[in-house]
Amino acid sequence: MSGNLDYFGESHRIFRQSVARFVEREIKPYVDEWEEAGEFPRDLYQKAADVGFLGIGYPENLGGTEADLFHEVVLTEELTRSGSGGLAAGLMSLGIALPPILALGTEEQKERFIRPVLRGEKIASLGITEPGGGSDVASVRTRAVRDGDSYIVNGSKTMITSGCRADQVTLAVRTGEAGHRGISLLVVDTNSPGFTVSKKLRKMGWWASDTAELALQDVRVPVENRLGQEGSAFYGIMRNFQKERLYLTVMANTTAQMALEESLKYARLREAFGKPLTGFQVTRHKLVDMATMIEVSREFAYRMAAKIQAGENKVKEISMAKIFSADICDRVCHMAVQIHGGYGYMREYLVERLYRDSRILSIGGGTSEIMKEIISKIIL
Ligand SMILES: Cc1cc2nc3c(=O)[nH]c(=O)nc-3n(C[C@H](O)[C@H](O)[C@H](O)COP(=O)(O)OP(=O)(O)OC[C@H]3O[C@@H](n4cnc5c(N)ncnc54)[C@H](O)[C@@H]3O)c2cc1C
Repeated sequence: MSGNLDYFGESHRIFRQSVARFVEREIKPYVDEWEEAGEFPRDLYQKAADVGFLGIGYPENLGGTEADLFHEVVLTEELTRSGSGGLAAGLMSLGIALPPILALGTEEQKERFIRPVLRGEKIASLGITEPGGGSDVASVRTRAVRDGDSYIVNGSKTMITSGCRADQVTLAVRTGEAGHRGISLLVVDTNSPGFTVSKKLRKMGWWASDTAELALQDVRVPVENRLGQEGSAFYGIMRNFQKERLYLTVMANTTAQMALEESLKYARLREAFGKPLTGFQVTRHKLVDMATMIEVSREFAYRMAAKIQAGENKVKEISMAKIFSADICDRVCHMAVQIHGGYGYMREYLVERLYRDSRILSIGGGTSEIMKEIISKIIL
């Protein structure tokens, strides 16, 4: 990343070294095992909290460490460099679950719901998607009906990252009329009677992250767990997506970069017809195409992150960055497997996992089609 000194200062470089050391010591030696097992040990949250990684970007008075967006970029890049997108997504599910609490919650709610997660004592998930649909957030069906100083919640959620072992879920529910004005966010304690994990979902990629289907049957949630005014959550959810889309863009660029690095190494060493693969112009050009796409995508993402950091609204550009980076990641990973030949299809080779992990990036956090809808509303 040395070509991007404009965006990263001394504190980012020091932070990058410390995350990279953590990944090298605490994750990489075990990551293949965790991928196969479909989860990583719970104490990794504690370890990541102890070195301050979970609290990056959160206020100090909640146990966080004040940091800028580029520290979050560094954290995402280095965790992705563990070689397991699932590990990064699972360990950092708080990155999508806590921001609505930070943005909409009272001081008392922030203390109750954010501090224990940043300490690594509790796991947090975000529950928006339902079996009936994820793209159309305004059509959430899980219903919360007021009963005294509680809500009674009934419904189901699916594809929830860290959902199997989360202690709390930031849950989108319908408290009012149809459409986006009837949606609220509740923080639900997963130990509440009536809350069950109905299924652990088996996936194409992101194996090390657990992904759950959740069922809520007459779950009683105190009104004091509602974030903001009743029926006002839709725009909070939409704002939250901006950060998630930036994280996913950074993951896509880093995944593609790793696929390129693996391919460069392999193409230099592997021989066919008496010469290394780099001796074939077609391979060299493929590697150049991969490097070019990544460079363009990464620079655009960094530039947009810098503008967001400076306070500009970049909804259109972040949506573009997500589409573009996910697309080039798919293409680069496809080329990487091709360069590896049959070995690219084997689990011992990292590119096999990168190829599978890449596929979620144009779906999660809003599909590429939904990104295009957002962009079209802005440019038309
Ligand atoms: C591994 C993984 C982890 C996830 N983690 C979470 C999580 O932690 N929390 C959470 O809430 N959700 C999570 N999701 C869900 C994810 O956000 C949804 O899958 C995504 O938003 C798409 O919703 P859907 O799957 O219901 O697809 P649908 O909304 O049913 O869409 C199906 C297809 O139709 C297209 N489509 C839909 N509407 C339009 C339109 N208006 N115009 C054009 N095309 C359209 C879509 O682009 C897509 O191609 C996760 C998903 C996966 C796979």
